[in-house]
Formats: sequence, structure tokens, C-alpha cells
Amino acid sequence: MKIYLYSFFLLNFTLTFAQTSVEVQLKNLDFKNVDAQIAIAPETEIVEGKVSYIFEVLQEVDSFFLDAQNMEFSEVKVNGNPVETSVNDTAIWIKETLEISNENQLSLNYKASPKQAMYFINWEYPDDGEIRKQVWTQGQGKKSSHWLPVIDNQNEKAIFNLDIDFNRDYKVLANGELILKENIEDSRSCWQFEMEDPMSSYLLAIAAGDFQQENRESASGIALELYMDKKDSAYFEPTYRHSVAIFDFLEEEIGVAYPWQNYKQVPVQDFLYSGMENTGATIFSRLMLTDSIGYKDRNYISVNAHELAHQWFGNLVTQKSPKHHWLHEGFATYYALLAEREIFGDDHYYWKLYQSAEKLKELSDTGKGEALAKTGGSSLTYYQKGAWALHVLRERIGDENFNKAVKDYLELYAFQNVETADFITEAERVSGQDLSEFVANWLNQTAFQGAEALNSLRKSKFITDYLELAGLRETGLADKADFLKVALNFPVNDYIGQEVVFQLEGHTSQEAIKLYKKAFESGNPFVRQAIALSMDEIPQELKAEYESLLEDESWLTREAALTNLWMQFPNENVKYLEKTKDQQGFSDKNLRILGLTLNLATPAFQPEKQDNIYKELSGYTAAHNPFEIRENAFGYLYQINAFSDQNLKDLMQGTRHHTTRFRDYCRQLLSELLKTPQYRERFQRLKGSLPENQQDFLDLKLQQL
Ligand SMILES: [Zn+2]
Repeated sequence: MKIYLYSFFLLNFTLTFAQTSVEVQLKNLDFKNVDAQIAIAPETEIVEGKVSYIFEVLQEVDSFFLDAQNMEFSEVKVNGNPVETSVNDTAIWIKETLEISNENQLSLNYKASPKQAMYFINWEYPDDGEIRKQVWTQGQGKKSSHWLPVIDNQNEKAIFNLDIDFNRDYKVLANGELILKENIEDSRSCWQFEMEDPMSSYLLAIAAGDFQQENRESASGIALELYMDKKDSAYFEPTYRHSVAIFDFLEEEIGVAYPWQNYKQVPVQDFLYSGMENTGATIFSRLMLTDSIGYKDRNYISVNAHELAHQWFGNLVTQKSPKHHWLHEGFATYYALLAEREIFGDDHYYWKLYQSAEKLKELSDTGKGEALAKTGGSSLTYYQKGAWALHVLRERIGDENFNKAVKDYLELYAFQNVETADFITEAERVSGQDLSEFVANWLNQTAFQGAEALNSLRKSKFITDYLELAGLRETGLADKADFLKVALNFPVNDYIGQEVVFQLEGHTSQEAIKLYKKAFESGNPFVRQAIALSMDEIPQELKAEYESLLEDESWLTREAALTNLWMQFPNENVKYLEKTKDQQGFSDKNLRILGLTLNLATPAFQPEKQDNIYKELSGYTAAHNPFEIRENAFGYLYQINAFSDQNLKDLMQGTRHHTTRFRDYCRQLLSELLKTPQYRERFQRLKGSLPENQQDFLDLKLQQL
């Protein structure tokens, strides 16, 4: 669909009518359909659109509004007639008296320059074949009304049909089914997506980029579309491993058919979170990408299952208010755990529950415990305490009742909004049990029910064995050596084997060496990783075994082993660097960047290449790189005190980055550098060449010294 450029003008009426709150408007109007034709110009970061809204009037109104952040409007009409409007920084108000009626239409043209919620990655750089040019959105916590005028309230659900006009060299995806892609003017195409069922606006999604696409199908026949930037295609299979199995498992386990037409997943550069469960279109962080070697260390399985579970818990049934946020996050975390249990086994399931129980207990013991059904809770509460509550509830009412309660709850409230009591009512009705004690202890109580959790965990023999072993931490090695030896017998349990190794830390007796040898020989990658991570000094008797860690199927193990070996055996540095020289490591290049740094500090290795090596290392801080790579490069350049002026400019750019984690990292590093007169002077000298907002930030930091 072609979108013409309209001449936009700001409608500057003074407010002559009473403004209603969103709560009142939700009672007065019900938006049914939003049909939007949107043209995205990533180079100028401008979005222009033509939107038609179909809505029902439930109570007579004399005005109504849409959320719209810093937008310009033209051609605003209600039921075909031009109307008086008022626009401010956050909304457009439409003055029109409307009686109770079914099919009303609002139509408008708009123009926006989104400062958040839609992100334009790398369009300012020439296409050198290496950088990822992408556009992606994030609605939750950011307001979709930065790029589309909508009611930004979870209680307003509508069917959204997006037609997106974009450069045809790229691939575009959004919520719903792609019913048509047609070439339009110049080099542009229009992708037309249609939805069948309503959702809240925070779940709107668009992603565009140079994506590779592979299609799969679930056992139930749902189309699963897997995307990935072509530059990252080496990560495709290991990242999406088990995706179909996870989908089939959750659909079966939840007992309610997947509610949407299809399911797409796409990783993007510099995403704000691990993942976001937009309806039928999960967007996730490039950080989640993994190859086969890194798969055991980090993988996408948990986030994959979590975002998919939200398609029911959050997207199909949506919280009425933030007080009931655990109905989204607790359920998504719990069902992801069940999917992980299916893939990695019972021990993994109980281990993750045990770890979260430890954290929750610590929070609770320090008086910081939070009730679950509460506004403004921490992630730990909504996610982990929420999952724990469901685990406990299932034990209490039994598998069959639990499954039926969940199924009935989802079916009863499908495409509606819910609160905690709605779920509890179903659980009580199905089980015939009074759950008021459960509600008091697990949903409303701030303290974590540690004793009950421990009793539940002890149903796992593995946890019982683990706790017995952990109870020996303070026992002298001689008194527990036989016990530790037995714990390392084949087939060693991942977590128990790791615990044995951690208890050996700092020991160098013959007894300890023998146990270490046994741990090495176990061949268990997690047990061997524990050695790499915990052994500070490598005894001569274990040197050969330790060197073999450089070949383990784990980037984390290799990184730790290379660092330790390089530090302790300087005479053999060349050998170690030779062995690891062409390895990249995780998608954040952890091993490559470590290798380059060590290479610079080892003049005997590749002396003729030192310039190129510095150039490569230093180049990784550049703004077009994914932030996880930049962060690693900044970290190592700091350690060897080798920042170029360009690195310092890149750091300043990072202090204004949209990703909180990376922005905070850069700000902290900047503060650290500014403590020294040498860097203060260098930053002062560079200041004039920085963009204005970076200059202001630098001034602020300098004043704070
Ligand atoms: Zn979530």
C-alpha cells in the first residue's frame, strides 16, 4: 500500500473541553480494530502513517483521546467528517459528541520521530557488508504510542492490522499473518499483516533487517518462523535448537491451543532486555545467540520457552493492573522451567528451583521479602517467587486439578483482562479445596516460605544428596576425602561434581591432587569448568590436565583456562596463544578479544602483526558493533591502558546508549577514567569534537569530580 507524504500541520487548539481519564475512557469507548498503513524511513528515523480505528461508544461522550507521543496530525475525521482536535506532547484529543453506537470510525494521518519504543540501528553508517542495519520495537515499558497513536493501556484490546512500507532489500515482520507483500514505488515494498484476535498495544511489534528465515511447523500445524540476521547465521541451529519441541511441549502441557495465527522469533542487535513476548512475534537479544561450543554455557532455551509461555500468560489473558504482574511473569517462568525439565531433566528443574529459593530466602531473611500480589515488586519476586507459588500450588492440589484450573482460567478469560482472584477461584472450584492459606502464605505474605520450599525440594533425591555434600563445606579435607571421591564416581552429577570441586579450592595436598585428577577424568564439562573457574594456582602435577581444558566444549572454560595458563606459565605463552588464536568464543567474542589482548602483551607471538592486532581490538569499541562486543573491548583496553582517542569517543557515545546495561557500564568506566589527570586532560581535549548531548554529559561528570 502506497503512503503519500502529506503536508503535516500541528493542530493547536486550546483545550476547551473537559479531558477524561483513561479509566473513564475505557468505560466509554471500546476500540475494536486498528488498521494502520505505516511508512518507515530508518535513515531519517521518521514514521508516517494513515490509520483507521473502528470503535464502539458505550456511554455518550463529547470528546476522547489517543496516546500519541510528540506526533503531528492531519486529516482527522470521525465517521467521515473533519473534527476539532487538540494535540499535546502525549496525546491527541478529538472533540466530537457521540451517542451510544456500534460502528464508529476515526481516521487520521500522523507523523512521528520516535525517540524510544522504535529503534533504528546503524542506518547512519555506510553498508560495508559487516554491520547489521535493523529496525525493531519494544512496547512494554516504552509505549507503542511513540510510533503509532493508540490507547496505551493493557485493558484496551483491539485487532491490529499493520501494513508496513519499507525498503524491499530487507525483510519485515510484525504481529499476525503476512497476507501480501507487494512492490510499490522505487525500491520499496509493502508488507501487509493481519490479525484475527485482539491484544493490548504494548504487544505490538515490528522488526526489519537483513534476515535469514527458516520455517518449521508445530505438531498442531502452527507455522513457526525463525529469523536471524544473515551476519549471525552461523548461530542459527544451536540458538534455535529444541524450538519446535518447546512449542509442542508447552501447547500440550498448558492444554489450550496456541492462541495466535503463527509464531515468529527474531534476535536483534542492542535489544533492551533478554526477550519480549510480542503477540506471535518474540523479539530477543543478540546476546542469546550461541554456537555449539557455547551451547552448554549459555543458550536461548529458557528465554525461548519463557516468551512463548507469555503468548498464553500475558497475551491471551492480560493483567488488569500491575498488582497482578505475577500472572504474566510467574506463569511464564514456571512453564519455562517445565519445558527445561523436559529437555535437561529433573535435576536441572530442582536445581533452578533450589537456586531461586536461596535468593528468595536471602531477600526474605534480610527483611526485604515482597508479597507476590503487589504493585512495584522486583523481578525476583514476580518471576521466581511466582514460579515457586505455582510449583507449590501444583503439589497441593495435584497435577490433574492444577492443569484443569489453568485450562479453565485461560478459556474463561481468553482475550480479556484478569486479576489474581480469577485464577484462584478456578483452582478452588476445580480442586474443591479452600486455598485461603495458600493465598495468605504465598501470594500476600512478604516472607518466603523457606521451610515449605525445602520440604518440597527434598522430594528430589539429587537435592537431598547435594545438601548433604554442601553440609561438609566447613569439614576438613582429610575427614571428607572418601565422601568426595565417591561423589565423583561415574556418572557424576553436574552440580554435585561442581560442589566437590568448589570444596577443593585452595587445597594442594596429595589427597586434593588425587581428587582433582578424578574430577578432570570425569569428562563432565561442568565439573571441569568448575576447576577452570575456581583453581587459582595450577599445581605442576595438574598442568597437563589443566591444559586440556583449552579443548573443552565450553567458551567459558576455555576463557578462564587461557587466562590462568598465560599468567602462570609465561614461558609457554606462545603455545597457548597458538592453540586458541582463531577462536571467537561467544557471540560477544569473549575469547577473540581476550586472545588479542594477550597477544599484545606477548611480544614474542606474531610480532609482525601487532599493529593489526591492536587495530582489530581497538575497532571493536566502534558504535556500530553490538554492545556486548563493545563492552568486552572496552574492558580489556582498560586493563592494558591502551585507549585511542577514537575509543574514548566511542565510550562517550556509549554513555548515551539506549540499552541501560551498556549505558551504565560506559558511565561507570568514564567515571573511573576521569579520576586520573591524564584522562581528564584527554577528554577535555576531545570535548569539542563530541555531539552536544555528549558534551553536556561530560561536563556534568567533570563537575561531579
Ligand atoms: Zn517475561
